[in-house]
Formats: sequence, structure tokens, C-alpha cells
Amino acid sequence: MNLIMFGPPGAGKGTQAKLLQQTYKIKQLSTGDMLRGEVAAQTDLGRRISDIMDDGGLVPDELIIELIADCIAQPECKRGFILDGFPRTLPQAEALNEMLTQKGQKIDHVLALEVVEDDLVERVKKRAGETAIARSDDNEETLRRRLSVYHEQTAPVLPYYEAAGLLRKIDGMQSVEAVTAQIETILNKSAAA
Ligand code: AMP
Repeated sequence: MNLIMFGPPGAGKGTQAKLLQQTYKIKQLSTGDMLRGEVAAQTDLGRRISDIMDDGGLVPDELIIELIADCIAQPECKRGFILDGFPRTLPQAEALNEMLTQKGQKIDHVLALEVVEDDLVERVKKRAGETAIARSDDNEETLRRRLSVYHEQTAPVLPYYEAAGLLRKIDGMQSVEAVTAQIETILNKSAAA
């Protein structure tokens, strides 16, 4: 089963993706975690992208598409994967479709977490307080920029998946447990169908 977790920054994509990874034994692929790893390790790629990430912008499509193509080819993705933070632009969604079609694979569901944006700032501040290693982009100013990037470049991906019949809307304002339960109901129903 191949899934996409979709939603604005702070909506809870990472939290839910981790839980789904455990329950369904499919691999969480967080592009944000991978990129932060590159920055921390000070690789060539990390040096190229750290300013972009700190500003809340998106790293170039070619880079991220290559990263994901490598990941989904790995044996650990054989049972399936959950994309967390990808695709974030229409060209990324189209490239993903192409790479999966070539492998005879597909996306089964796009789980879109719907949230009230005014509450996201508070959530992200809370996350910044709880995370041992602070994220350099978890501050109010960068979050606002990340939200505007979400509206301009990422939200337009939703109609693409809606047209493909893959979009499942989830109320992301519920408790973590209730969101998980709503997602599991969707997945289990479709598995039984
Ligand atoms: P995230 O942890 O998913 O919020 O991602 C943190 C940052 O990594 C984003 O603000 C972007 O700068 C970068 N990033 C993560 N995923 C992508 C992507 N699919 N396309 C472009 N940039 C990305």
C-alpha cells in the first residue's frame, strides 16, 4: 500500500506517518527529515539547501524528485510507503506518477489533513518546545512563509489527486488518536472492498 500524507506545515503529517509505519509495516519517507539529515551532515546537498529551508522555501524539484526515486527503489519500500512532505508541487506529483507507472505501481490514497490555520502557529510553537533538537524553521516568521508557500505551490496539487479519485479528507483538528482512527477506517474499508 502506497500512501501520501498531505497537509500544511504543523498539520500532524509526521506524527500520523510514524504511526501508520508501525501499524501497516510500510516505510515512512519524510523528505523534510532526509533534507535536515543532509544539512546536519554538511554534505554538498546540505550546504546548497540549508538557506532555502531556513527561509521556509522549497528546495528545487529536480533534487527532491531524485531523492524520492532513490528511496522508493529500496527494498525497505517493497511492502509500500508513506510519503510525508512529498509531493509539494505539481511537477513533483507528475514526476511521482511517472516513476510509479514505470514500475507498475501506484498511489492508493492521498490522506489530506484539514486544519484551522490560525491554530497551526500555536501547534508549531508547541512542537518547537517539545523537540529535543530545535528545528531552525519552527519559528513564527518562517512558519508564516511556509504556509504561504503551501498555499501557492502545494495546495494546487490537491485537485490533481481529487481528479484521480485518490483524495481522502481527514479532520486534522481532532486528537492524534481520533485522526489515526479516522485514517485506519478509510484504509481498512478500502482493503475490505
Ligand atoms: P517538512 O519537514 O516536511 O516541513 O520540510 C521542511 C523543509 O524541507 C521545507 O520547508 C522545505 O524547505 C524542504 N522540503 C521538504 N520536502 C520538500 C519537497 N517535497 N519539496 C521541496 N522542499 C521540500
